[in-house]
Amino acid sequence: MARSSVLGYPRIGKRRDLKRALERYWAGESDEAALLQTARSVRRAAWEVQREAGIDLIPCNDFSLYDHVLDTICLLGLVPERFGPPEPEVSLSTYFAMARGRPGAPALELTKWFDTNYHYLVPEFDGPAPRLASAKPFEEFVEATEFLGKPAKPVLLGPLSLLLLGKRHRRPLDEHLDALLSVYREVLERLAAAGAEWVQMDEPVLVQDRSEDELRLLRRAYDVLGSTAKRPQIMLQTFYGSLDEASWDLVMTLPVEGVGLDFVRDDGNRALLNRHGFPEDKVFGAGVVDGRNVWRTNLVEALEKLEEIAEHVPVDRIWVQPTCSLLHLPHDVRLETRLPASLRALLAFAEQRLEELVVLTRALNEGRSAILDELERNAEVFRVALDDLPVIRPAVRERVAALTEDDFRRTSPYRVRETVQRERFQLPLFPTTTIGSFPQTPDVRQARARWRAGTMSDEEYWAFIRERIADVIRRQEEIGLDVLVHGEFERTDMVEYFAAQLDGFVLTEHGWVQSYGSRVIRPPIIFGDVARPKPMTVEVIRFAQSLTDKPVKGMLTGPVTILNWSFVRQDIPRHEVAYQIALALRDEVRDLEAAGIGMIQIDEPALREGLPLRRAEWGAYLDWAVRAFRLASSGVRDETQIHTHMCYSEFNDIIEAIDALDADVISIENSRSHGELLQAFQTYRYERQIGPGVYDVHSTRIPSVEEVLELLERALAFLRPEQLWVNPDCGLKTRRPEEVWPSLQNMVEAARRLRARYHQH
Ligand code: GLN
Ligand code: ZN
Repeated sequence: MARSSVLGYPRIGKRRDLKRALERYWAGESDEAALLQTARSVRRAAWEVQREAGIDLIPCNDFSLYDHVLDTICLLGLVPERFGPPEPEVSLSTYFAMARGRPGAPALELTKWFDTNYHYLVPEFDGPAPRLASAKPFEEFVEATEFLGKPAKPVLLGPLSLLLLGKRHRRPLDEHLDALLSVYREVLERLAAAGAEWVQMDEPVLVQDRSEDELRLLRRAYDVLGSTAKRPQIMLQTFYGSLDEASWDLVMTLPVEGVGLDFVRDDGNRALLNRHGFPEDKVFGAGVVDGRNVWRTNLVEALEKLEEIAEHVPVDRIWVQPTCSLLHLPHDVRLETRLPASLRALLAFAEQRLEELVVLTRALNEGRSAILDELERNAEVFRVALDDLPVIRPAVRERVAALTEDDFRRTSPYRVRETVQRERFQLPLFPTTTIGSFPQTPDVRQARARWRAGTMSDEEYWAFIRERIADVIRRQEEIGLDVLVHGEFERTDMVEYFAAQLDGFVLTEHGWVQSYGSRVIRPPIIFGDVARPKPMTVEVIRFAQSLTDKPVKGMLTGPVTILNWSFVRQDIPRHEVAYQIALALRDEVRDLEAAGIGMIQIDEPALREGLPLRRAEWGAYLDWAVRAFRLASSGVRDETQIHTHMCYSEFNDIIEAIDALDADVISIENSRSHGELLQAFQTYRYERQIGPGVYDVHSTRIPSVEEVLELLERALAFLRPEQLWVNPDCGLKTRRPEEVWPSLQNMVEAARRLRARYHQH
């Protein structure tokens, strides 16, 4: 019999229970026992819902108090020395110190998990030698197995992924690997002793380009683990993409009892299966329902995939699985009572995925005839949605179809625009500005909460926002900034603000997904063609500009960022959705221009993180991403200055694409990169204007005039003075006013001193 299997379940809790418990614990409002109690109930709820749904293989150790990579760091005792002397078992206080830092011991680096919006803590390999230092997987296995009445399936991050996701390897990789493996063997032995029949080893690094050396490490790792005397069977699980020829060949000969593969993301694994078949001695983990997106599975299509797999693999060796952990989905679509029914029917969050898995498993075992009702209902959902929902907007389709190269191009080249714009704005050398947001103080958040709850009228709310804008304009003028912003007080989130106003999007009430630790995000859902019913920002920007003679930047979120931070429809290609969003923004840009706004900033902080996992696909992505940005930004006259902002500093990979955006000015994060950024400019002759951030907005520290000056001087080693703008790394939303104003004052003073040296004022 085929079996249904889950790779991991959301762990934040249906009502964000874990988030709340963590925050209470950190604030000292509850104790460890209370936190662990909530954690236990979140785990049980997950097991319970999977058991009730009828899932055959239910995961354990997929839960985490903060991050599963951090759990693995603890399991293997990779606790850096700065967190104190080694403890026999890593304590909760050390665990959270690694996650969040403590005085004198900065946190582990937090970085993006593959191409998701989840973040993990980066293992450091220059600390103590690996040793078993946590009992979490064993305890959770016992807990789950007692609860379920049958063995749960422990999930572990595999050794190759752990190694390659880490940094500061001070010895050759194979030495680090060998040291890890002896602990992994111990873990497997203990799990076997506790009664585990299967263990799921996650090796997502296998869907990225891997060198021959790295694949040799994989062979070495699983040869060692496979030869562990008493161990559970190993399901080697890959996700977020396909293997390639070399990794497929290798993986299929490893001494593991199962291989799990993604059959949704692209066609790669399917092609490999049809070309090479599948070994007779292994279980096939068939990832046929999407763990990354929220659309209901088309059951017929998924069944066709399963039937094709069954041509190569006997049915009793197939596990019907999601493509990856369900961590990236919200818990339950049934909580979304405000969504139109026909749209809600089209969505499947984690709980709904379970039903799909069980139905598909039944169909595989008993034939399609066993699920005729389900198939009929499934088809009906898609039919009704198409009739009911404004998915297709002919005017939008026609506009996209009619695009020509001219729509992606500004009238004149940068050189020409630069002259016209200098004439228009008459800015000093080293113009000073900020990235957009100013502190969202408690009064701003309270006003918004009251307005949403209906206890503050529209009129009162907007009067309040205007007051805040007026205040921030006045203060920017006072300290002598050259290019001003309105402060973004009306926005909670840079994507949600636009999603709420655009047709084709919906927002959920409870669609929370973990970003890291207690941080959760609620991505908008793009279900239909995107259109802009009316201007979205013009009124506030025009108001801000009316208060000052200095230029106020219009402030928009770019098409690629809106796309990458949403759940996106799959019936048309991503680039087409990006173009639709870009067209809506293009209209906004033009309206801002018509309202007299001379500078318009279009933020693209998520452009780089959208890079595909395999390099071969980078070109195609960057090509449409750049085109989408240009479509949004190029409809303006030469004298309108387009700015963009990105908050990362590893520029080398994508500097050509950034140049191709054809923005007049770009601001980027820089202060934490220790000159890395400047390397990119050394090799690539960047001719446009650029503001490399002069101070870190994530820190409460107020930078001195001297240190800002020093950063600017370093930048001038690679840039002409006419190219250099002066600004912080990113928006100031999360900082307190007491930090922001003195910092900006020092920044403005540094620019003044630098100007004086160039004999200009
Ligand atoms: N304009 C936005 C802000 O200042 C940019 C935020 C971002 O880059 N993430 O808040
Ligand atoms: Zn930023």
